[in-house]
Parts: sequence; C-alpha cells; structure tokens
Amino acid sequence: MASAHLSIDLDAIAANWRTLSRMTGPDTQTGAVVKADAYGLGSGRVSHALAKAGARRFFVAAAEEGAAIRKALGTGPQINVFSGHMEGDAALIRDLDLTPMLNSVDQIMRHVESLPGHSFGIQLDTGMNRLGLEMAEWQAVASMVLELGPELVMSHLACSDTPDDPMNEAQLAEFRAMTDGCGVPRSLSATGGILLGERYHFDLTRPGIGLYGGRPYDAGQPAVRLSLPVIQTREVAAGEVVGYSGTWRAEAPAFVATVAAGYADGLMRTLSNNTRLWAGSTPCPLIGRVSMDLVTVDISHLKEVPTALDILGPHQTADDLADAAGTIGYEVMTSLGARYQRRYSGDDL
Ligand SMILES: *Cc1c(COP(=O)(O)O)cnc(C)c1O
Repeated sequence: MASAHLSIDLDAIAANWRTLSRMTGPDTQTGAVVKADAYGLGSGRVSHALAKAGARRFFVAAAEEGAAIRKALGTGPQINVFSGHMEGDAALIRDLDLTPMLNSVDQIMRHVESLPGHSFGIQLDTGMNRLGLEMAEWQAVASMVLELGPELVMSHLACSDTPDDPMNEAQLAEFRAMTDGCGVPRSLSATGGILLGERYHFDLTRPGIGLYGGRPYDAGQPAVRLSLPVIQTREVAAGEVVGYSGTWRAEAPAFVATVAAGYADGLMRTLSNNTRLWAGSTPCPLIGRVSMDLVTVDISHLKEVPTALDILGPHQTADDLADAAGTIGYEVMTSLGARYQRRYSGDDL
C-alpha cells in the first residue's frame, strides 16, 4: 500500500485536555477547539474522545464544520462557531444546534431575525483587529444584547505565545472594561492564555494546539506519528544527482529510498534538503527536492531497508518540522494530507 499512515493517539489528546483543565481553577470550564478537522487529526473521533474526557464546549471556525462534530457527539455538548452567523447559515445553525459567536451588529440582527430565541455568544475585539465588536459598537448594543441572554462573551489574544508582550495586559484590560459586571460567562484564553495565569482564565478556556501536543504548551504529550512507506530503493553512484533540478549530488556511493508523501500531502517544499526522517531512532536525511507525491531519503547508513520511515513521531514533532520549514506547528498540523490513512489508538468509545 502506497499511502502513508497518520497514527493519532486519542489517549494523549484526552490527557492533554485534562492537564490543561487542571491548570485552571474549579470555576473555570475547559473547552476544546476542533476547527480545521481538529487541526488535521479528524474532528469526529477527536471530539468524541474529548467529550469522554469531560469536554462540553467545542469550537469550530465555520458552521459547516459543526456537522461531523454534532454527529460524533449527539445532542448536549455545545458547538460554538467563531465566524458567527453568516448569510445562509440559519438552517445549519438550527438543525445542528450550533451556537454562533456573533461578531458584528449585522450578525446580531441576522441571528435574532432569522432564529429568534436560538442560542448565541458574542465575540469582542480587544485589539487584535480581526473578529468581534469593538468597544464603541459594543457599548451601543450591549444592554439590548445582554437582555437576549448570550451564552458567552469572548475575545482572543494576539500575542499570548509571548508572555511578556505588553499586548497581553492591554487586551486583558480592554476585555475587562468591556465585560466586567455583564453577568455572562466570559472567555479570553486559548492555549497560550492558559499559560499566562489565572487572571486570563475567566469562566471558560479554549485550548486548541495544546490538546494536540504543540507549542506553546511544552508539557503536552505528542499525539501524532506519521509513517511514510518506502516504495523503492536504489544505489546512487558518486557524482549522480537525486530529484528535481538535481539539487542533491552524491559525494560517495549512496543508497536512497523513495517514500510516499510530498507537498500535496502537506510536506512543505521548504523541507527540501532540510529535514530528516526516522528509521526507529536513527535519523536519515531528506535529500533533494520535495516533489508532489514523493520524497527521497539517504539511508546509506542503515543496516536493513526499512518498510517505512517516520517524519513525525517521538523524535520529531510538528514544531520541529515547522522550524525546519520556516513555519509554525499549526500550519504543519492543519496541512496534514487528505491522502493519509488516519489510524486511531486509545479509548474513545
Ligand atoms: C484557533 C483559536 C483558538 C485555539 O487556539 P490555540 O492557540 O490553538 O489554542 C481559540 N480561540 C480562537 C478565537 C481561535 O481562533
């Protein structure tokens, strides 16, 4: 079989959710962000495992993403939508019982007109200038909106991965100025904000990347292993080149494996000549260009030809790969290819 295997450890994800929950006080609930197909890992299985661990509030980016999660969870747990209530979303929001985080006065009007009495939350902008009502808009509508009984008021931190960035305190102060005394549950922090400490926790946290073993939550358990099958091996004579544009040239006779995954599967082309794959605990350099469906690996030093090589696993995390590729672990995770066969371990039933 020529397709790669992505092994996902649901127990590790559940354990990360529990340890992130324990970092906040007893009055703070811990949600779970499962947008972008749970950062590439499969939102149905991941949500189910997290619900079993105790999560009751889930977050997605777009209403369409709610379908797989509602199917996995059944009725009960709340599924919140960061993009709010977009034109044409009313039927989905109603049928899947989603809770849109309304971002503008237009969205508030659309929601109360098309689905009167249906649950919603409010997203406030406290300085990131991306989503949510700003102070003046909020002041104009707050008393009317609060009468309607929002489930949650939330905002999002722009710099929480840098604890001493003054933006964190500024956003915290703005959030408090906008919401102190409002009488509605409040949420400000994603993974980075949880690590900033209690003042940032409020009533509900929204970890995403930390659940999946990524920075900035360094204590998290790694949850993924990506194993790429070896399709073919060959001897390469000194002076010969490997791959498109001949960017790697053998200085001595070499033994090269061709393995099945490429940039169409989310292995960034900037990894060309620039990372390693692993045969157990032995690193093997990726040589030549990453092509669409294949990469080539120098395995001259191995005693046996492996059937597969790992590019993500215990020796190399998504953050390590991101550092080499010049991006962030979030992008590596959410680019994990649709062709990979996802295999789950752990108890989510
Ligand atoms: C993606 C996202 C999160 C989760 O962020 P992580 O850094 O992955 O923990 C939380 N809140 C909002 C608004 C988001 O867009």
